[in-house]
Amino acid sequence: MTYIKHMAFAVDSVDETLNRYQKLLGVGLDAKVVVAEKARIKVAIFDVGDIEYQLNESLDGEGRFSKWIAERGGEGLHHICYAVPDIDDALAEAQAQGSTLRECSSCKVSGSHPHPEGYVAFLEQETGGIEIEIMQVYTPDELEQYKSIRGI
Ligand SMILES: [Zn+2]
Repeated sequence: MTYIKHMAFAVDSVDETLNRYQKLLGVGLDAKVVVAEKARIKVAIFDVGDIEYQLNESLDGEGRFSKWIAERGGEGLHHICYAVPDIDDALAEAQAQGSTLRECSSCKVSGSHPHPEGYVAFLEQETGGIEIEIMQVYTPDELEQYKSIRGI
């Protein structure tokens, strides 16, 4: 079953946006706010119902999310990540329908590759103007393996 793993927003200010979610909707009160120095982003992560929201702010004007906001002319929904049972099957089916793979902007890899939470891939085609990320979430064993390889 395909379900939404997370929705990622590109924002000018994580603090300001999070504050607005908290005030207007009463969500994100337990948000985890992290500054990822290597990726040069600040991100807030919280759940709305079963769906994880990620608010992403670039620390630099030339950063991935700053650039996206500038090109698009404003903040917005950057991508939706869909969890699938088998990423290889999902990609094969999408490609059989004419879909092509987009390079991961963090890893510079096209197609399925490991991220902290699972195997991910990006499609070049969008739905309703929103980028598609596909993820096969790690099993507990795979997660342990990923952590041990990275020394986390
Ligand atoms: Zn990647």
